[in-house]
Amino acid sequence: MLAMNGGPKVRTTPFPHWPQFDDLDRAAVGRALDQGSWWRFGGKEVSSFEQEFAEFHHAPAALAVTNGSHALELALEIIGLRPGDEVIVPAYTFIATATAVQRRGGIPVLVDVDPVTYCMDPEELEAATTERTRAVIPVHIGGHVADMDAINAWAEPRGITVIQDAAQAHGAMWRDQGLGALGSMATFSFQETKVVTAGEGGALLLPNEESYEIAHMRHNCGRARDLSLRTASSNFRISEMTGALLRVQLGRLAAQTERRERQYERLAAGLAGIPGVVPQGRDERCTVNPHYMTMFILDPEELDGLDRDTVSGALFAEGIPAFGCNRAIHRTEAFWTARTGPEPAEDLARRCPNAEKLGSRGLMIPHQVLLGGDQEIDDVVEGLTKVLAELPRTGSGHA
Ligand SMILES: *Cc1c(COP(=O)(O)O)cnc(C)c1O
Repeated sequence: MLAMNGGPKVRTTPFPHWPQFDDLDRAAVGRALDQGSWWRFGGKEVSSFEQEFAEFHHAPAALAVTNGSHALELALEIIGLRPGDEVIVPAYTFIATATAVQRRGGIPVLVDVDPVTYCMDPEELEAATTERTRAVIPVHIGGHVADMDAINAWAEPRGITVIQDAAQAHGAMWRDQGLGALGSMATFSFQETKVVTAGEGGALLLPNEESYEIAHMRHNCGRARDLSLRTASSNFRISEMTGALLRVQLGRLAAQTERRERQYERLAAGLAGIPGVVPQGRDERCTVNPHYMTMFILDPEELDGLDRDTVSGALFAEGIPAFGCNRAIHRTEAFWTARTGPEPAEDLARRCPNAEKLGSRGLMIPHQVLLGGDQEIDDVVEGLTKVLAELPRTGSGHA
């Protein structure tokens, strides 16, 4: 019997906790405190973190900022986005990818995602291009790197700037290159759920030292190194305590990613063996995937009548954390509260069927499940198998 109806739960013990920390983190924060000055100008934790983060991603430079949303906004400032400029973003992503464009005065133009990788489909770019297209923001969703070969090859001859939204892809690699070696800026988030976290925080990878200097000025109230106030900007700086914590957390990323890669194989194989469950696929050129989320779709053909949110609720009752994927961007109220293109939601929905499907039929499992052992993986597979077998089918169709 299903746990939601009073039956026994598949799993009664908790999955690994996130965030993870020990005496190393305590010592790092203490070290930052003991510097006696807590902003980046009085110590060396933030600047050391920037160097280590840049190196880890094969980037010439990195700048630490307040959060991933601000990192995106700052990237758009750095390229000099003007009011009315268009920026192409995937229709399936976290809302900040689109709202950052809107908050900088631009117009986000949505394109559909690839049905296998769930990342921006490069085939859709040309049809979305106008003479106002200024930039494109591929999102490495769930940790899977978007097709950077095709996106770069399309953008470069057209003079369109690429900004990678890597908020879910710390340490990811494309053809064995870090995201900082791909010739474009990349933005990151360190909020609580991400694979590197200090509770809050963010960063940008920068393709050269000049762009680092511009970014530094803009994250520091528009103040140049000589302290002259050069441009109307804002304060996106982080504290030394955050910097110190991020250095320790970054130090764990490689080993944690290796473990998640290994456990993901077991989980994806288990999920793929359940009728009607289709896990996110992998492009072989994505040589390292940190697996921020394990994403899968409940096939509407095979599982007709099973509502996604009912499945998620039943899984939670079994002790398995599985969240419904975000709605597609054009399905949110937020998107329509700021400037958009002329296309109404219904047209966007028709043009972006894969984003629609993820938004209504997609589920995701957080990365800490992959930090457990084989039993954790097997419990997830058993839980989903049980729930899909026992939940009544209404036959009333899907959303
Ligand atoms: C988390 C996330 C962001 C925003 O990061 P915050 O630090 O929460 O502002 C942006 N884009 C994507 C794809 C994200 O997952």
